[in-house]
Amino acid sequence: MSENKELLKNGKRIDGRGIEDLRDMEAEVGIFKRADGSGYFRMGNTEAVAAVFGPRELHPKHRQKPKRGILQCRYNLTPFSVEDRKRPGPSRRGKEIGKVSEGALSSIVFLEEFPTATIDVYMEVISADAGTRCVALNAASIALADAGVPMKGLISACAAGKIEDTPVLDLKGEEDKDGQVDLPIAMNAETGDITLLQMDGMTDIDEMDEMLGLAVKGCKKVAEKQREALMKTFEDSK
Ligand code: UDP
Repeated sequence: MSENKELLKNGKRIDGRGIEDLRDMEAEVGIFKRADGSGYFRMGNTEAVAAVFGPRELHPKHRQKPKRGILQCRYNLTPFSVEDRKRPGPSRRGKEIGKVSEGALSSIVFLEEFPTATIDVYMEVISADAGTRCVALNAASIALADAGVPMKGLISACAAGKIEDTPVLDLKGEEDKDGQVDLPIAMNAETGDITLLQMDGMTDIDEMDEMLGLAVKGCKKVAEKQREALMKTFEDSK
């Protein structure tokens, strides 16, 4: 992260938002017929879709766990999602985000109800403007609910950060690139359990507290949007 642009002027950010404002959000449930569950989530210009398959028997069998199922997660940045076309195929960054997303989602699923099974979650970022891991997780969480997977709650994710020495909510691309800190979190907004927390840049404890507070507020708003989209499919299917 480098700082060479004016990102904050009179309390307004480059896209006109205040420091505690989220980007505009959109959510949709059940977008793919061939998956057991699916979802779409957008925050500003960052968009992701997710598809869930399972619970289904895990192969090869030697990877099966006798007492609980596993959740496997793939995160992919599509070649057309970024400004300079991304080389298709796996990357270290993608693998790492897939791994931490597995952790973030596994903790809310009742995996002990599905011994020997797998739940496969595919997250595809179709447009990237910062916060892709959060938006992908938000799509994945509603896709899991759409698949009818028993869960303790929803996972909602949102980043806070620091620009021009000021903690702000939900960075967009330029703010992520030219800002000082990016701090994405994922949580069960109902229980307050945090299941993912990452950070790059430099901060201190007081600022960290402030950014965490902002990110938690953001996750609660994300959760409302997710619930609204889930309720809508529920009502549409009546
Ligand atoms: N990005 C990119 N190409 C890449 C990886 C990232 O253009 O190969 C951009 C993209 O806009 C992404 C942003 O950099 O949203 C920030 O990426 P980061 O690794 O911090 O993850 P994110 O904030 O998207 O979860």
